[in-house]
Amino acid sequence: MTDMRKPERKGQVLVLCAPSGTGKSTLVRKLRSEFPQIGFSISCTTREPRTGEEDGRDYYFLTVDQFNEKLENGDFAEWAEVHGNFYGTPKEPVEQMLFKGMDILFDIDFQGCMQLMESMPDGVFVFLMPPSYGELKSRLEGRNTDSESVISRRLRNAMKEMASAPKFEYWIVNDDLERAYGELKSIYLAGKNRPCSNPGLLESILSTWE
Ligand code: ADP
Ligand code: 5GP
Repeated sequence: MTDMRKPERKGQVLVLCAPSGTGKSTLVRKLRSEFPQIGFSISCTTREPRTGEEDGRDYYFLTVDQFNEKLENGDFAEWAEVHGNFYGTPKEPVEQMLFKGMDILFDIDFQGCMQLMESMPDGVFVFLMPPSYGELKSRLEGRNTDSESVISRRLRNAMKEMASAPKFEYWIVNDDLERAYGELKSIYLAGKNRPCSNPGLLESILSTWE
């Protein structure tokens, strides 16, 4: 019997989108702590760091001029203005992680997701929803990281963001955190079994017939 040739595995692009305050960062932290091998795309932003946030770990915090320079150099895989600040995904680390076959997690807004849906059509795009407006408001207030005007702006934008949900392949309602996490984990693991994540697998098994 011929031995099966070892097929390559292709890194999975997992993109999470949600209105601010839904619990995206909480779920991202849980997934990264259970699967530390997943690469995380650290974004650039012009917003001020929140207490506890670290430059180079949570975001690269840039001035508007620094952001514009990168934009003009074509350094971003996608970018958008979100809640009055600029955010962008640096292209190079993403390309390097994909080249190494690593899975990558993106935490970006719906405008950025639309751009990645075009440039990374094999990505898995997940939209996370709050259970209700009231719950979203109390999570934003309870987080205690943003001023009242920032919270109002984020709540106003949430409706527009929810309108983009039909464009996504998967929906998760983050009511019970553990259940929502279980669903996210299932989507991530199922993504590994898609044909596009396993190029050459079929051929390698068929080659054992030769
Ligand atoms: P996002 O990254 O989407 O802006 P966060 O992860 O910062 O949101 O979550 C916003 C707040 O809601 C945090 O205080 C977090 O602890 C809380 N939270 C997240 N998920 C849940 C949940 N399922 N039930 C109740 N509170 C939650
Ligand atoms: P926050 O300021 O709460 O960290 O993030 C605000 C919003 O910006 C969130 O929806 C977050 O997913 C989004 N965001 C973070 N990084 C990026 C990025 O690189 N590109 C885009 N388009 N959105 C981002």
